[in-house]
Amino acid sequence: MSEHKDFLRTIVEEDLKSNKYKKIITRFPPEPNGFPHIGHAKSICINFGIARDYNGYCNLRMDDTNPTTEDTKYVEALKDAVQWLGFNWGDNVYFTSDYFPKIYNYAIELVKMGKAYVDSLNEEEIREYRGTVTEAGKRSVYAQRSIEENLDLLERMKKGEFKEGEHVLRAKIDMSAANMKMRDPLLYRIRHAHHFRTGDEWCIYPMYDFAHCLSDYIEGVSHSICTLEFENNRDIYDWVLDTLNLTPPRPYQHEFARLGINYTVMSKRKLLELVNGNYVNGWDDPRLPTIAGYKRRGYTPESILNFCDQIGIAKANSMVDVSQLEFCIRDDLNKKAPRVMCVLDPLKITIENYEGTEEIEASYYPHDVPKEGSRKIPFSKKIYIEREDFMENPPKEYNRLTPEQSVRLRHAYIITCKEVIKDTNGNIIEIKAEYNPNSKSGQDTSGIKVKSAIQWVDAKEAKQIEVRLYDRLYKNEAPEGLEDLNPNSLSIIKDALVEPAVITDKVDERFQFERQGYFYADPIDYSDEKPVFNKIVGLKDSWAKKTTKVETKPAPKAELKKEVIHGEAEPLTTKQQVLFDKYTTKLKLNSEVANILARDEVLSSFYEEALDYISRLHFVNQLSFNLENCNIALANIVANEVAKELKEKKINELKFTAVEIAELIKMVDEETISNKIAKQVFEEMAQSGEKPTKIVEDKGLIQISDPNIILPIIDEIIAKNPEIKEKYKGGNQKLFGFFVGQVLKATEGKANPKVVNELVTKQLNS
Ligand code: ATP
Ligand code: MG
Repeated sequence: MSEHKDFLRTIVEEDLKSNKYKKIITRFPPEPNGFPHIGHAKSICINFGIARDYNGYCNLRMDDTNPTTEDTKYVEALKDAVQWLGFNWGDNVYFTSDYFPKIYNYAIELVKMGKAYVDSLNEEEIREYRGTVTEAGKRSVYAQRSIEENLDLLERMKKGEFKEGEHVLRAKIDMSAANMKMRDPLLYRIRHAHHFRTGDEWCIYPMYDFAHCLSDYIEGVSHSICTLEFENNRDIYDWVLDTLNLTPPRPYQHEFARLGINYTVMSKRKLLELVNGNYVNGWDDPRLPTIAGYKRRGYTPESILNFCDQIGIAKANSMVDVSQLEFCIRDDLNKKAPRVMCVLDPLKITIENYEGTEEIEASYYPHDVPKEGSRKIPFSKKIYIEREDFMENPPKEYNRLTPEQSVRLRHAYIITCKEVIKDTNGNIIEIKAEYNPNSKSGQDTSGIKVKSAIQWVDAKEAKQIEVRLYDRLYKNEAPEGLEDLNPNSLSIIKDALVEPAVITDKVDERFQFERQGYFYADPIDYSDEKPVFNKIVGLKDSWAKKTTKVETKPAPKAELKKEVIHGEAEPLTTKQQVLFDKYTTKLKLNSEVANILARDEVLSSFYEEALDYISRLHFVNQLSFNLENCNIALANIVANEVAKELKEKKINELKFTAVEIAELIKMVDEETISNKIAKQVFEEMAQSGEKPTKIVEDKGLIQISDPNIILPIIDEIIAKNPEIKEKYKGGNQKLFGFFVGQVLKATEGKANPKVVNELVTKQLNS
């Protein structure tokens, strides 16, 4: 277990201490509609990890309630992933579809209680009737159906007597609930589709919100852990279990932040698009963030587990840098992988003064790795070195072989270039060299100084292999679509050469090819005739260097001067321009705000993080707030208020997170709070570090939009001021403002001004 207890483990410990549960039971509940990705690995680590740490158990449950997208091949992939990560689900894999009869019976019970009804509005009408965040919804006329009629219709839905969309079963909760999800949520819908397990037995399928809590209950789950998008669904979860009055103990839902990684996509839907469109070679393509992809590429389960441990469990979504994952695999393999030699781009060397052959004993592990093991490397007159390890006209810092500079062959001798042989086009095709017989590694008495040692392979004994090198799947950090795919994410070298030990020793083994990186024999395509190796990861974080180099290109001095004189802005870098274009076109920001954000990496990544969160929320909550407005409002607050804070503080000293700012903006958009109150809340957040929702709650700042509350206040004010009303009616329009002002005052500024205006107009003219 990690040193610091996360908030979920704190909850679990409290629940054990208070005897709420005797046993801790969790579950990992994927929908089998795609291969699991590294985000799922996080969820697996949390659910199985908590069960393990508290002597409980964790169920592997397929959440298979959507017959059109699910398949057994995904079930197998999910099982494989859990197993590979080293977790154990006990004797059985569970399936929500196994509970269909029980779930159906619970539905009947709700109908009998008058707590559920068959609705026959169509999809569009259901959406319309739901209302908006500021307006209560209205209940369907069908909600008045008798219990008998509902029972009859439900049974006939089940039997398949109706077309898809003709009816749905809904919970009867509250069409004016502040939480939109509670406005009579759907429990069942008709689907005439073949289910991969139940076949054609069912014509109705339970919705996630109904099936999930009941499946948890049926399995005796204590802690139902899910990602943050489900926060608003928790009310339904509780409503179903409480209304059915099930015998305790019952499960409770707890949410954590989902994992996002840059330069890739992480939703099964998007991954499916890549696979189906042949943008990658199947679900286990080593470029994908799928567990199968990492496994095939050569990642170890330990490295993934370490990564999940490092990123921790939090309540705020964030984007993790992929280099952190790469660090974990490098760190793991550094200690484990034997080091051997491979030449990716061979250049022939003939050592003219060497005759015969010999075998050089060489350790697989350098001095600082406490592991034993060695192999024999064949050596003779003809060898290959890496083409880039020789330069005829080298730059100053070049430490390898040149016509003037000797170099050591790793584990072997020092050689000196004698002649460079070229073809008719001037390409170097061979180097004639000499070796120093007294310079053998470990027994060197030659006294020659060299600046580096390079890898090599014996020409006769080396084996040809195919090497697959992988780069980021996407060009940009936050890819938006297929157009962002990195066209160079895969490069194949057909004729690399390795020392023979790599071949004979290969059994699910990972190697460090010295100075190149870590490599893994491809588990699918490797054969004795055509050995194939995947590059797992390089030895250094070369990507970080590559990108910073491009960005920090200093502007020439003269230009800088010009800038000052003419007051012209420095041109945007390519990366900034891309951001700027996205902000102005796609997100519709005005160019001033877009400019501020695009130029400042700290601000833009803060903004991106908030955007990511808000779009996720929007996706999950469907239409419950206006995403475009939120994106603009977010940009404004980041470019102004957040930027102001950052003048005095470093980003890690801020008391609020991007996610909290996004939540604040969402509250404004949903008209939970007014714009004016939002400013007050922001100031409070910046000072106290309290969450916006909590500040609003604690201080009772929630905007009042409910006409049922506002109307009586208006009526009272009008009743108290009959003469003012008369004057208004007599033509003094200015007095309208008096009434609005009084209402706002009476509600301490919390009444929704739009609603107040409407209602005052109505009441004064009635
Ligand atoms: P996707 O959007 O990739 O399809 P999902 O949430 O729909 O993901 P499920 O199969 O329903 O996928 O998820 C199974 C479990 O894994 C859920 O509990 C879910 O919350 C969790 N999970 C999915 N994605 C992530 C992620 N990126 N980080 C952490 N947990 C995740
Ligand atoms: Mg899903």
